[in-house]
Amino acid sequence: MYNSKSYKASDFINEEEILSALESASENKNNFALINDILAKASEHKGLDYKEVSVLLESDSPEIINELYRIAEEIKQKFYGNRIVMFAPLYLSNYCVNGCVYCPYHCSNKKMARKKLTQEEIRSEVIALQDMGHKRLALEAGEDPKNNPIEYILESIDTIYSIKNKNGSIRRVNVNVAATTAENYKALRNAGIGTYILFQETYSKRLYEKLHPFGPKSDYAYHTEAMDRAMTAGIDDVGLGVLLGLNAYKYDVAALMMHVRHLEDFIGVGPHTISMPRIRPADDICIDDFEKSASDETLKKIIAILRIAVPYTGIIISTRESQKTREELLRVGVSQISGGSLTSVGGYGGKRDKNTSQFSVNDERLLSEIIEWLIDLGHIPSFCTACYREGRTGDRFMSLVKNGEIVNVCQPNAVITLKEYLKDYASEEIRRKGEKVLTDELNGIKSQRVREKAQYYISEINNGKRDFRF
Ligand code: SF4
Ligand code: SF4
Repeated sequence: MYNSKSYKASDFINEEEILSALESASENKNNFALINDILAKASEHKGLDYKEVSVLLESDSPEIINELYRIAEEIKQKFYGNRIVMFAPLYLSNYCVNGCVYCPYHCSNKKMARKKLTQEEIRSEVIALQDMGHKRLALEAGEDPKNNPIEYILESIDTIYSIKNKNGSIRRVNVNVAATTAENYKALRNAGIGTYILFQETYSKRLYEKLHPFGPKSDYAYHTEAMDRAMTAGIDDVGLGVLLGLNAYKYDVAALMMHVRHLEDFIGVGPHTISMPRIRPADDICIDDFEKSASDETLKKIIAILRIAVPYTGIIISTRESQKTREELLRVGVSQISGGSLTSVGGYGGKRDKNTSQFSVNDERLLSEIIEWLIDLGHIPSFCTACYREGRTGDRFMSLVKNGEIVNVCQPNAVITLKEYLKDYASEEIRRKGEKVLTDELNGIKSQRVREKAQYYISEINNGKRDFRF
């Protein structure tokens, strides 16, 4: 039976309940009184549940969809302002013992060149990422207890944090590794990770088991309950996601909302981020086997609905999506994007080894091009990592977002971290455009105290100092 407070995956992601919500949503597709009630609730910016989300997903009325976009944009501005947080993935190893049929790293793919970065190679990758201007990384590794044991991941995190090259430093390491034990989650917490990210891929147990025919990841319950183990072990911030294309999206979005509710009800804190990757062509993967991927328009609708349903959660879109698609999605609620990314093991520091890529990237622009593009679109690219370093994690972070106060730190932090970027890494042209944005943003900071402090930090950055934060 459905129970959001249960510790069991089959209770908090309950198939019967999902199917009943989807059926009811389909019956109410043209129930405009109900839809308008949901939109009125959405306008209060307090979120929606999986049943309400399912009703909105059914709607194909242009008026309703435009209203969704309008509310989503309003929420993004209110909670986060126009800052867009930047990050890059760093693939440590593509050794993997699992058999995920949608991923080229599955162990039966004998054509895939296997590679694991040494600590020395990590050092050159990180220096290359720092030289682009990155401050925040998402570590990726396949699951392989022999080649990528937890000790290797921990040592790599230590190496990354220890590297200070010129004015560069990686200030937040998010980690995307396989579901693991409470003990290992404690070790990751003690290593100072930011967000622990684990995609569910699909919430349908039947399909999940088919797509994961063997290996430790084939245990649906162990995987689905991973966030509970991680958060109970002391990791405050977790990131959810599904891989669009594996299952009918309405099912997985409704189930994702159930997972959100479970974390809120069982742990007391919802997800820090949600990712919505769409499946991409890759080695040994036939994209035609996965016909259920969302169209561009559907993806935009999903992102807008998520923005409305969980206003306090960051929404991430990676370079899987094209420049054009990312532009649309930024408008309706995406708050974090990757840039200048490589999805291969190694390559930032020199030779790109295409044979080790997890998927092909759609947006291949350099980080500098993405920064310029964001500025031209009126966003502020932000390299901020302040919250977790200031202890604003878990419920402390959530309460600040929920009462709308986070924007008061996001905005000045975006300003001072962009200033660092402009000083250390930008071309003359980008610096000129960026300085104009900085002046406008500084003038737009409402609190005189914060504005003056930000001005002081900027003058200190001009004097060669770094790493200020609110
Ligand atoms: Fe391994 Fe992850 Fe790829 Fe599955 S999705 S094959 S666990 S790297
Ligand atoms: Fe993210 Fe916190 Fe920085 Fe805002 S202030 S961008 S929420 S780290």
